[in-house]
Order: sequence, then C-alpha cells, then structure tokens
Amino acid sequence: MHVELTREIARRFNHLYGREPDFEEKAKAALKTIGKKNSKLYETLRKQYQEQGDHEALEKARALLESQQHITLGDRERLFGYLEGGGKIILPEPQALLTKASKMPGLDGQKMSKSYGNTIALRDTPKEVDQKIKTMPTDPARVRRTDPGDPEKCPVWQFHLVYSNDDLKNWVQDGCRSAKIGCLECKQPVIDAVQAELDPIRQRAAEFSADMAGVRTIINQGCEAAREVADATLEEVRKAMGLTHE
Ligand code: SF4
Repeated sequence: MHVELTREIARRFNHLYGREPDFEEKAKAALKTIGKKNSKLYETLRKQYQEQGDHEALEKARALLESQQHITLGDRERLFGYLEGGGKIILPEPQALLTKASKMPGLDGQKMSKSYGNTIALRDTPKEVDQKIKTMPTDPARVRRTDPGDPEKCPVWQFHLVYSNDDLKNWVQDGCRSAKIGCLECKQPVIDAVQAELDPIRQRAAEFSADMAGVRTIINQGCEAAREVADATLEEVRKAMGLTHE
C-alpha cells in the first residue's frame, strides 16, 4: 500500500518537475561521457525499447548505466529518464521486495493482521506458538476424527503451502480427504516449521534486548546514512521546484 502510494507520488513529481527545458541536449551531452561504444549500445537499446516496447532492451540499457563508474549522479538519472522518453528521474520509483511467500495468512485464514487478532508474533514463546496453532480452526466438516475434510476449506492448509514440501503436502491432501490423519497430527509439521523459523529470531531478539546501547548505536548509524541520502534527494527536489536560494 505505501509502496504503491510512494510510486504514484514519484511518478507525478517526475512528470511535473523532471523536464528541464534543455533536457534532451543535456541527455545527449551525458551520453558522450560514457564512451563511444557504450553510447552506441545505449542508443540501440533505447530505440529497441521506444520503438518496439522491448523490455529486455530497457533492462539491458539500465544495467549498462548502472555499471558506468565515471558518470555523475545527475547525468545517470538523466539517461535513465531519456531511456523511457520522459524527463529526468528525480524520485526513482521504489519496487516491492517480495519473498516467495509474499502473503502470509493469519491463524483464521484471513490476512494476518494485528487488528484481526490472528497473528503469530516473531517473539511469541514456543508455548504460545504451539497453543495458537493447535487451536486454529480447521475445515468445519471435520466434526469427528472420522469425518473426511477438504484442505482448501482449512486455514492450516494455507500454512502447509508456505512451509511444507511436496511429500508433506500430498500427505495432507490424501490424509485429510480420507480422514486417515487427524487435525492435530496435520498441524504438527506446521508447528515444527514455524518454531524452526522463529528460533533464531527469538535468539537474536534476546541478544538485542540485552544490549540496548548497541541497538541505539545501530539506529543512529542507520539514521545518519539515511539522512545523507535524503539530503541529496531533497536538494534535487528543491532545485527542480525552484526553491533554492541562489
Ligand atoms: S487434516 Fe489438516 S487440512 Fe484437513 S481439516 Fe484438518 S488441519 Fe485442515
């Protein structure tokens, strides 16, 4: 949600303020700084992208720009913008970084969220995790142990999708539909997998809790590094908007 919002702001800002009056000339001058061979390749790739919508060419051109050592930040951004036909990219659009399991279901099968009260917290104790998963709802059709069920109607299956290998998933599918396994039995591998995932996290959390001074140092260093980058960006934003006092 926030990534999406930030992307929209960046796109709009670049559209409004990224067009310097002499943008094209500046982009062409910037091209000269990356050498003849590179600028020729850049032009070919840019053409392929702009005329045929070839996204692979766009990616290659971007990689080419990334690899240039002797180019100013402003020129690099200009050339990124020129590639796509627009102006200079002042605010790059952030991309989401997703892991393989990008959506984690909650204990009740809905989205995992604190406000739904269906979460497993990173610092839950092993006993809490055990308890939470053992009391998870299952397919309501399985009233008795002998009633067959359908994993598709069960939130525990969503966890198997995230944590289990194919053999285990087949065991669940078959065992649930034929009532060969009970729900507690089915939940145990999920409990084991979640505990194994959380163990090192709990350990790290305990180490950090015991060293608050160290944590503050890490935060301060991070703030400083972020401030440097933010200052440079803000400077560019002010310049683009004509808000500098020169
Ligand atoms: S056996 Fe597993 S998948 Fe089937 S209802 Fe029970 S917990 Fe859900």
